[in-house]
Amino acid sequence: MSNSIVIVGAGVIGLTSALTLKKENKDLDITVIASHLPGDISINYTSPFAGANWQSFAGDDVEVQKIDEIGYHEFIRLADIPTSGVWKKKNVNCVTQKGWDDAQRDPKAFANWFDKLANSRVLEKNELVPGTVYGTVFDGVVISVPIYLSYLVQQCLEIGIVLQRIAPLKNIEDARALHHSGKKASLLINCAGLGVSRLNGLNDKKRTYAVKGQVVLVSNKIDHVICVEGAKHPNEMLYAFPRKEGGTIIGGCFLVDQWSSKEDKTITQRILGRAVRHIPQLIDPATGNPDHLDVVKVNVGLRPFREDGPRIERDSKRPWLIHAYGAGGGGYQGSYGFAEKVARLVRESKPEAKL
Ligand SMILES: Cc1cc2nc3c(=O)[nH]c(=O)nc-3n(C[C@H](O)[C@H](O)[C@H](O)COP(=O)(O)OP(=O)(O)OC[C@H]3O[C@@H](n4cnc5c(N)ncnc54)[C@H](O)[C@@H]3O)c2cc1C
Repeated sequence: MSNSIVIVGAGVIGLTSALTLKKENKDLDITVIASHLPGDISINYTSPFAGANWQSFAGDDVEVQKIDEIGYHEFIRLADIPTSGVWKKKNVNCVTQKGWDDAQRDPKAFANWFDKLANSRVLEKNELVPGTVYGTVFDGVVISVPIYLSYLVQQCLEIGIVLQRIAPLKNIEDARALHHSGKKASLLINCAGLGVSRLNGLNDKKRTYAVKGQVVLVSNKIDHVICVEGAKHPNEMLYAFPRKEGGTIIGGCFLVDQWSSKEDKTITQRILGRAVRHIPQLIDPATGNPDHLDVVKVNVGLRPFREDGPRIERDSKRPWLIHAYGAGGGGYQGSYGFAEKVARLVRESKPEAKL
């Protein structure tokens, strides 16, 4: 049996899995195949649209906590590599009076499982963002995704992983024949993100669905992450991430089962309104910014959610198939945890698919 592996998907999950596997075992011969690669912009490709920061949504889910904790340490390490596009940044989280009242003014509602890990503390009154009544800050990281995706590609190419663009697959099984050697792959790893909703042969009773997000890239600058909960509109919030290449990503919304790529202009206006209200330094010439928000573009992306959470497992019917999709709104922060689980499944592969 050969060491050949095909990975479907060149999003953050597929590329990180490829890199992790190859770093662990140089003898693996890996082909990443995908209909979209870094540099492409498509509603069928989520990774280019993320903010992105590390702010785990694991709640009480210990499995997801473990996944995100691995990512926290790895991204903190990557922040020391200038070409990675990762930055250590303070992550400020505040809540409006409405959000505070909705949470029955209970500070416990704003406590997180990672408070100790990320050195979280409650903000003093004079540190609160304007228009908010309570807040915390932790030692976070921001990932500038255009730089980071290209960094992942470079890393993959440098260690001999082959990347190939393909036409969209119809059935996941078809990918096994697409290893660059021409041989049938010993293992196939499915990192197709939301693309699984259009793929046959998945053997998954749970549904994968889109949660639409809309973000605005402005040239105005801030120097750390600011998030504000408690907006009047349901499923909307404010978050602002500085980008390493300049400018700020401002979001956002969380629209469950909405699959449209169309910008909702009223949401854009509300995003910009909240930004000015809570982050006035964005339009303060004294901070080197213009006196208005200079919009570069509006991005719409679909987060790949799955009922009951991510699927990272060996297929129950086909031992040569490993699934790793359903990262939802946390695919960056979870990427190294996903990859580590994939690597464990590869190590545990049965003799007939032995690597
Ligand atoms: C607005 C927004 C903000 C976000 N912010 C954050 C954040 O701050 N932090 C964070 O951690 N995460 C964030 N996310 C979530 C994160 O972006 C996703 O979880 C992550 O990008 C999912 O990556 P993926 O590799 O699973 O999927 P994708 O990036 O969609 O990649 C899927 C790959 O599979 C390929 N593919 C799919 N189907 C087929 C097929 N049939 N044939 C061939 N190839 C196929 C595609 O071409 C692509 O290469 C955000 C998302 C959005 C939309």
